[in-house]
Amino acid sequence: MYVYINMTDIFDNTILCNKCNTKMKKAQATKNGFLFRVVVCPKCNEKLIHPLDKQEYNKFINLKNKEFKVKMRLVGNSYTVSIPKEIVSFMNEQEKIMDNMVKLCFEEMGRLSLNFNELNRR
Ligand SMILES: [Zn+2]
Repeated sequence: MYVYINMTDIFDNTILCNKCNTKMKKAQATKNGFLFRVVVCPKCNEKLIHPLDKQEYNKFINLKNKEFKVKMRLVGNSYTVSIPKEIVSFMNEQEKIMDNMVKLCFEEMGRLSLNFNELNRR
């Protein structure tokens, strides 16, 4: 008995533009730092976002708008805060690999930023 798993991506098929019937071309688009697989019509510029990426983006928007209350703790000479697991897991899913090193910036009074991408994309 074999179990067949369908791994074919819908974007591997020929997709015709629903406006002008031209064969659409695979491309990539970014929004809010989020990478999308898209197909674009070379004739009329009609765009179609990959449904899975659209789903992931919605998850991202939900997380982005969520506010987490985390505690600061003094450990030795440093303060630590915990990053909610759901954020890290989501980023891991997106980036595939994630370093333990992040860039921390004192952006402005009352605001710290953590940058996960800059170190990874080198
Ligand atoms: Zn078109």
